[in-house]
Amino acid sequence: IARSLMAKLERRELGNTGLKLSCVGFGASPLGNVFGPVSRDEALATVRRALELGINFFDTSPYYGGTVSETVLGDCLRDLGVPRDEIVVSTKCGRYKDGFDFSAERVTKSIDESLQRLKLDYVDIFQCHDIEFGSLDQIVNETIPALQKLKETGKIRFIGITGLPLDIFTYVLDRVPPGSVDVILSYCHYSINDLTLLDLLPYLKSKGVGVISASPLAMGLLTENGPPEWHPASSELKSACKAAANHCKEKGKNISKLALQYSLKNKEVASVLVGMNSVKQVEENVGAALELLNIGQDDDLLEEVETILAPVKNQTWPSGIQQS
Ligand code: NAD
Repeated sequence: IARSLMAKLERRELGNTGLKLSCVGFGASPLGNVFGPVSRDEALATVRRALELGINFFDTSPYYGGTVSETVLGDCLRDLGVPRDEIVVSTKCGRYKDGFDFSAERVTKSIDESLQRLKLDYVDIFQCHDIEFGSLDQIVNETIPALQKLKETGKIRFIGITGLPLDIFTYVLDRVPPGSVDVILSYCHYSINDLTLLDLLPYLKSKGVGVISASPLAMGLLTENGPPEWHPASSELKSACKAAANHCKEKGKNISKLALQYSLKNKEVASVLVGMNSVKQVEENVGAALELLNIGQDDDLLEEVETILAPVKNQTWPSGIQQS
């Protein structure tokens, strides 16, 4: 079964990088116990199943679980003996348990710490994590140039930036030399309740920048179990999503499947990163992608859910500091 599924999980080009990512990417923040505790055995089984089913893209950060996610992911990849050139590993810099630091000195040190925890010689993508919390001018003038030096050492292959507000991407990409930022990672802006990333895709394409979209389940809002305690959405958005999840459940359907399929439909997005912490979730999410390809989506259910979510469409939450 594994082999036949592996052949089918679609791979998509990431901008001009030459990397081909599985359309479903493995978000490793749950391995840092961000959405509840995950045992080492569970983590290993989850990563193993992801690889068996054709997932080749793994995303983490030193921030997730205060370095725990990187360490656990690194242990799993080592224990499973995964050939290095068969996976794409992304981690981040600038955001840590104790705060933000996008200085050249800190991010240069950061890669060595991450490589040690991941037990790798290089990462494929190294991203400035949640740049709206730093000075965007520092990102342009100091952080990206420092990462370009890291590229020359071979410790990183490609450079990315991540964050919630979409205008941070245009701010930076309009100011850096062409080709110096390879990838952007946007989250919570390409899902049933929020489609605002769509408008930015032509601009990103014109810049030759690859697009990763994370959190298709809106960090738990579009799941039967609901979001974690720390979720920043308004109570209005939370209750609308809960109503949508209940509606699906009453019809014997799963809102997470619908939500992931919705995000996967746009092929301009190279990979949709979903946080996963169990074999069951991996199987459901890969299954959802294959079903989309082979059968299509439940359009009636989608219309019903879109109607329920219409009053909160594109509602987001504040993130970051006011830029001067
Ligand atoms: P998500 O929308 O992927 O939701 C994750 C939650 O949904 C977890 O609780 C997970 O256990 C659950 N889940 C996954 N599959 C499920 C299924 N089939 N059924 C029911 N529940 C399911 O949110 P996320 O984890 O925050 O985002 C995905 C990944 O993207 C992260 O792990 C991280 O790697 C990345 N990300 C990066 C940034 C950033 O760089 N700023 C921000 C957000 C996410």
